[in-house]
Amino acid sequence: MSISSTLINWYLQKKRNLPWRNSQNPYHIWLSEVILQQTRVAQGLAYYERFVARFPDIETLANANTDEILKTWQGLGYYSRARNLQTGAQMVMDKFNGQLPGDYNQLLSIKGIGSYTAAAIGSIAFNLPVAVVDGNVNRVISRLFGVHSPVNSTAGMKEIAVIAQNLINPKLPGIHNQAMMEFGALQCTIRNPDCCLCPLQSECYAFKNNEITLLPIKIKQAAVKKRYFTYLVILYHINTYLQKRTEKDIWQGLYEFPLIETEKVVSLQKLKCSPQWNQIFQNVPHEIIETSGLFKHQLSHQQINARFILIKTNDDGINFRKESIAVRTDKIHDFPVSKLIDNYLSAINLSNY
Ligand code: SF4
Repeated sequence: MSISSTLINWYLQKKRNLPWRNSQNPYHIWLSEVILQQTRVAQGLAYYERFVARFPDIETLANANTDEILKTWQGLGYYSRARNLQTGAQMVMDKFNGQLPGDYNQLLSIKGIGSYTAAAIGSIAFNLPVAVVDGNVNRVISRLFGVHSPVNSTAGMKEIAVIAQNLINPKLPGIHNQAMMEFGALQCTIRNPDCCLCPLQSECYAFKNNEITLLPIKIKQAAVKKRYFTYLVILYHINTYLQKRTEKDIWQGLYEFPLIETEKVVSLQKLKCSPQWNQIFQNVPHEIIETSGLFKHQLSHQQINARFILIKTNDDGINFRKESIAVRTDKIHDFPVSKLIDNYLSAINLSNY
């Protein structure tokens, strides 16, 4: 039996019952693949269902308010995925009459759809014989075929793409691709793969050569950068102030409190003497109510260390240096914010101050 047939047999018996698996709808497949790119299935499931309920088709997504899309995405991270989904939906409306095309290169021309997503949509929704390669596929192929080039190097990626394409079952490309990914997620896992009960054990290079813990090989990523944020939670009567992150940095499009970023942790005393603080408050009378502990938030290449300073003022002459909006403290949950700020808001009730 071919490797593909073995994988498909295994898949039909062991696959998890996930809502997008019962759908041939290209939009649903697109959405599920984008959500699952950086997210575990258990977490992504609720987001998928919420997203489909709120934005049931490409046209609704294309015409939606971006803040509302980001709010629905809140907590999933990698917010460029949500922004790109909307830009992609708008392109589908403009260029493809509102229908995702059944052509691999046309799929690739849509914003936010890379080779992985195009292969997933193309094979599952349109039966195109194109292999998907994600982290699970990298691991399964590295171990099965003894690929020793790092899977995150150009050479390794090319090697694995060729093997993956040769393995594909041209009659059942969608099921084959899903089987491959599910096999990596459930059977050939990162730690403790279930080799004893593996239907591919007799063909597996890593099993035969005792290299399961060695493969796949990866080049080490750059060190994590640490950043230090101080958020100014300024209360002016029933309002506080929010600013939108517009820079091409983390959390683009999300809202946050006015921010002072420093290169290391600085004491409150020092911060109050800093030019940034003085520029913001100038001669505006204000009172510091409390300073939070450190909130840590890990992103893929950055660690954000944040604290929140709660400040009261009766003067609206603050110089925010960046466009700010006054928001009622009891309406703050209507705005899309980072998980970090959401964690702070869950720990405090601003309306009580
Ligand atoms: S034998 Fe083990 S390492 Fe090889 S494919 Fe099966 S689960 Fe993965």
